[in-house]
Amino acid sequence: MTIQLIYDLDLAALSSILAEWGEPAYRARQIWQGLYQHLWASPDEFPMLPKALRQKTADTFSFAHLRPVTVLESSDGETRKTLFQLPDQQLIEAVLMRYEKRRTLCISTQAGCAMGCVFCATGQMGFRRHLSSGEIVEQVLYYARLLKAQNETVTNVVIMGMGEPFHNYEATLAAIDRLNDAEGLNFGERRITLSTVGLPPMIRRFANEKRQVNLAISLHAAEDVLRSSLLPVNKKYPLDEVFRACLDYVEKTHRRISFEWALIQNVNDTAEQARLLAARLQQFQRGGSMLCHVNVIPLNPTQKYDGQAATRQRAEAFRAILEQAKIPCSIRLRRGIDIRAGCGQLAGQPPI
Ligand code: SAH
Ligand code: SF4
Repeated sequence: MTIQLIYDLDLAALSSILAEWGEPAYRARQIWQGLYQHLWASPDEFPMLPKALRQKTADTFSFAHLRPVTVLESSDGETRKTLFQLPDQQLIEAVLMRYEKRRTLCISTQAGCAMGCVFCATGQMGFRRHLSSGEIVEQVLYYARLLKAQNETVTNVVIMGMGEPFHNYEATLAAIDRLNDAEGLNFGERRITLSTVGLPPMIRRFANEKRQVNLAISLHAAEDVLRSSLLPVNKKYPLDEVFRACLDYVEKTHRRISFEWALIQNVNDTAEQARLLAARLQQFQRGGSMLCHVNVIPLNPTQKYDGQAATRQRAEAFRAILEQAKIPCSIRLRRGIDIRAGCGQLAGQPPI
């Protein structure tokens, strides 16, 4: 049996366990601060705890569910990917990207994914299981400790690793709360971006929470036939429904939405798709500003999908059409391609 992961608890739950043990209230806070402010990774590191309590904590809780099994650094040293094994042997990945002063961490919310997007290595694996909130949080702690040893910190978190965060809604939101806790890591929601395949009921639920987290929607196509061929979930939730939910989100939160577009040569990189997308996104204009942004990223080729990355030239042409229509658009670099830093590309495929 696996013992409970300590990062699965919020401060209230930890406090009630310590109260049951007859410990004074401040002990829970000490442990909390040790975990999330000092980034201590084992009970031995808590100097202020009496030995017996340290022992009891060690016997009751696990301080590590993630066992790093493979670490890959890109040739430029700027991207580092870790494959972790969980106690039940499932594999997940987290990727650290260094770019100027940013230290951006891409984390997973599930082992595998049930959405089956055809070009995605995680989708090709199928669904294995949801991660617990603590397993999501531990990915951040792991890298925060690593960076701390180099006098650095994680500056941004993107929930764009393996899995569909809105299919594991409660655990993902609980993990965000834990990262955000003022007495803990105090990691601001504005520095977190959550990417979803676009599940309208969950987009609406998220809008009602009025969070500061940045929302990204994986679009990849601007009409239903093409989108359904790439993202099977589009058959259940076609584009009109996705956009209606996105517009509700913008109305409720006044926050800008990012739309993700993996550019695939001769599939979704056409002028026609760009024009259809621009037409749809006109609805996001509010009082002179466009509350949306398009992130174009050339496809990371995967084993089980034939599509190729669009050329730089095609990507520029795609962007030009959007910009002509006053839709902000960036072309993102494919980072860490030599270490398969794309979503699920390490866990789902044989070793390089
Ligand atoms: N499930 C969520 C978050 C994880 S995927 C989602 O789909 O949004 C993060 C992003 O990577 C998504 O935009 C996804 O479409 C994109 N992606 C997946 N496989 C890719 C690939 N092979 N090349 C480029 N982008 C990919
Ligand atoms: Fe799942 Fe996102 Fe991959 Fe689609 S792109 S299969 S939703 S992880």
